Amino acid sequence: MPRSVIEEATQGMLDFSGMGLSILEISHRSAEFTAVVEEAMQLVRDLLDVSADYEVLFLTGGASMQFAMAPMNLLDSAETAAYVDSGTWSNKAIKEAKNFGNVRVLASSKEQNYTFIPKDYEVPTDMKYLHLTSNNTIFGTQYHWWPETDVPFVCDMSSDIFSRPVDMNRFGLIYAGAQKNAGAAGVTLVVVRKDMLGKVSRTLPSMLDYRVFAAENSLYNTPPVFAIYIMMLTMRWVKANGGVKGMAERNEEKAQLLYNEIDTNPFFTGTTAVEDRSRMNATFLATGTAIEQSFLESCKATGIVEIKGHRSVGGFRASMYNAMDLEGVNVLVEVMRDVARSQG
Ligand SMILES: *Cc1c(COP(=O)(O)O)cnc(C)c1O
Repeated sequence: MPRSVIEEATQGMLDFSGMGLSILEISHRSAEFTAVVEEAMQLVRDLLDVSADYEVLFLTGGASMQFAMAPMNLLDSAETAAYVDSGTWSNKAIKEAKNFGNVRVLASSKEQNYTFIPKDYEVPTDMKYLHLTSNNTIFGTQYHWWPETDVPFVCDMSSDIFSRPVDMNRFGLIYAGAQKNAGAAGVTLVVVRKDMLGKVSRTLPSMLDYRVFAAENSLYNTPPVFAIYIMMLTMRWVKANGGVKGMAERNEEKAQLLYNEIDTNPFFTGTTAVEDRSRMNATFLATGTAIEQSFLESCKATGIVEIKGHRSVGGFRASMYNAMDLEGVNVLVEVMRDVARSQG
């Protein structure tokens, strides 16, 4: 997270908006908190260029809840939705959707341990939506193109929301848990096109109905006040730093620096197809366990944390979310160079 956001949040913990109360103590119905929600919604609209055809919602339950909530709200039991299986999270989304309607998996890279984004498939025109995972956090792949189709996308953007501009008009719905690139755990952002709603025949529980939250400005029940506040501060920071275009430039520069080292350092190799490499999570392997050990020790000594790859990939994973600066990536690259030097 950006240091300045943590500092501002610390101030808000002590005295929020001059109220003499902590952000943790105020009413979610207070004018001060209503202003936070409204500013946060406007920031989402500004940053992602969201038109009036869409609702902006702040929900709970994480992206994992959206795996079920999206098909529940959008897909009738006799209808079919298309899914692309590009990683662990896509796979979970597919599993949940099957509870609500027909699911057609158009393509999967599972047999190749998700080392690339599937590309060779046609999207049948009668699909209700096409579900994509824009950044595969665990495997280190990311969409750098979008499929050619008029079918609206439903997209899990949990790990790359606000990292680059996207053409919102291609998306019927996007969702993202805030904790990776947009703030702290507890709130989930959903942006949904209004005409996608109200088309299914099943009865929806109020807490799982997008329309209920849309009608109540996301204040149907007690919202995650602190998480929404942190997300609002984080979005202010994104805006002040060039918006999503500024983030994209910064992320591009960071990714180039790291992937260039992975490609030129003889002791490391990337794990994914070059054209699908993620700018958020870079996955790579060391050539042998001795190098792996030496690299891990140097990382620890330098203060680089959470560098071990997910158990399903092994090796290493460097997460370079928006708040990471170029200098942070440079520290990692220097450690990789030191490892090479020490091998003579
Ligand atoms: C982390 C992650 C999830 C799971 O998010 P929760 O908020 O923990 O449910 C889903 N999708 C992607 C792409 C993720 O990175």
